Parts: sequence; C-alpha cells; structure tokens
Amino acid sequence: NNVFELRNIHKKFKDGTVALKNINIQFKASTFTALIGPSGSGKSTLIRLLNSLETPTEGDILYLGESILNPKYDMIKHRTEVGMVFQSFNLFPNLSVLDNINLAQTNVLKKSKSEATETSLKLLETFGLLEKAYQYPNQLSGGQKQRIAIVRSLAMNPKVMLFDEPTSALDPEMVGEVLSVMKTLKNQHMTIILVTHEMEFARLFADEIVVMDQGEIIEVNEPEVLFSNP
Ligand code: ADP
Ligand code: ADP
Repeated sequence: NNVFELRNIHKKFKDGTVALKNINIQFKASTFTALIGPSGSGKSTLIRLLNSLETPTEGDILYLGESILNPKYDMIKHRTEVGMVFQSFNLFPNLSVLDNINLAQTNVLKKSKSEATETSLKLLETFGLLEKAYQYPNQLSGGQKQRIAIVRSLAMNPKVMLFDEPTSALDPEMVGEVLSVMKTLKNQHMTIILVTHEMEFARLFADEIVVMDQGEIIEVNEPEVLFSNP
C-alpha cells in the first residue's frame, strides 16, 4: 500500500549543507500528504528525491517496493508515473497550450498526435480550460498557466502527483483556482504529495501532514490531531 518509502535518508550538498537527516517515511496510495515547515527545512529537497531530481547521500528510496537508486531502474518510466509540478510553470512559450500538453505524450509515451490531442482536450475540458487550447502561455494568467502545467502532468496518466509550492509564485487571487484542481485530484483518489505554506488548505484537505524542521521530520499526523489545540 506504500507508494514511496524513504529509509534512513541523508542529504548533504557539495557545499557541505546538510539538507536532510534521518528521514524515514512512507507515502501511502490514494493519500494526500502535505509537507510543511519553515523555509530551508528540507521540504523541497525531500520531494525532489522522489523523482531523482536530487539523489540522497545515504539511504534508500523505494517506489512500489523497488529501489529507484538501482542503476538499472527505469527512470524514464518512473517520471511518467510520478508527475511533478513546480512553483514556476515551465511551459514552452512558443507552443500553444495544446502543443505544450501534447509534447511529452507524443515524445515520451509515443502517442500519435491525434491520440495525444484527444487526451489533452478531455483534460482541458475537465478543468474548465478548453477555451485556452489554442492560446499561448503569455496570453494566460499565472493561475491558468499553473493549471495548464498540472494538466500537462496529468496527461501522462501518472500514479502519483508531486507539487512543490505550486501556489507560491501566484497572485493571491489566483491561488484558489490552483488549490481547487488539487481538490479535484484528491476527490479522484490520486496519490498526492504537496509542499506548501497554505496551512488552511493543508488542514482542510490533507489526509496526513508531515512537519519538517532543520532537515528532519518532527511530526507526522492527521490534520485534526496536528492542528487541534491541546
Ligand atoms: P525548503 O524546501 O524547506 O525551503 P530546501 O529543501 O529547499 O528547503 O533546502 C534545505 C536546505 O538545503 C537549505 O539550507 C537550502 O539552502 C539547502 N539547499 C537546497 N538546495 C541546495 C543546493 N543545490 N546546494 C546547496 N544547498 C542547497
Ligand atoms: P524553494 O523555494 O523550493 O525552497 P529555493 O528558492 O531555496 O527553493 O532554491 C531554488 C533553487 O536553488 C533550487 O534548485 C535549490 O536546489 C537551489 N538552492 C537553494 N539553496 C541553495 C544553496 N545554498 N546553494 C546552491 N543552490 C541552492
């Protein structure tokens, strides 16, 4: 039932910064986990380990029971199954919204253009973005760009979605529309791991909250317990 398991993870960067210490944690299927904690506490480093954007100095990372650190591990397949959305949207400015969403489907999943387009348009419709299909990123608001970036990830049919502060680069009035996409994914029982400063969202919608401080996990609990006043 574990999608990810981290065992005794330590991460020290080349400059000597210790970003993670003694990390032992499991992320369960169909569970929405929020990682919270002060800036610099290691949240981003931890989530980036899960699709090998960082590698640990020590310890092991299992995905569906298999070590992703094994040199023979299929990282390309992994990255199609584990979607990631960042603070910055990373859309290609010279491609339409539709072509942005089609790109990895045709290049990585080797779908035909028409198959990819069918998937893309269906997802755009689900998230109320169909009228943006033929626009370009610079014609979109920040909130719309981020929702397109999420749709692009979902088009790969991922088993897990990782979000690293997806709302922190947005104007406040656009935060809600991105959070509502995550609500929809939660309702579809997607496995979600979210790094966020949106405490109220985490309290209301996360199944589990992981609190980090100075490179360590200091508490893992349900929001009802974590946020209850003693
Ligand atoms: P958070 O996401 O909680 O803000 P990070 O995981 O980004 O924390 O950072 C944890 C610590 O690691 C911080 O001290 C940060 O400055 C440091 N750090 C992050 N990335 C690097 C890097 N590439 N090289 C050196 N230090 C880094
Ligand atoms: P976040 O907002 O996710 O915590 P940061 O703004 O701390 O990220 O870092 C942005 C980028 O800079 C990341 O790729 C991170 O790995 C890198 N970085 C952060 N701190 C350092 C550092 N002390 N030395 C080198 N790179 C760093």
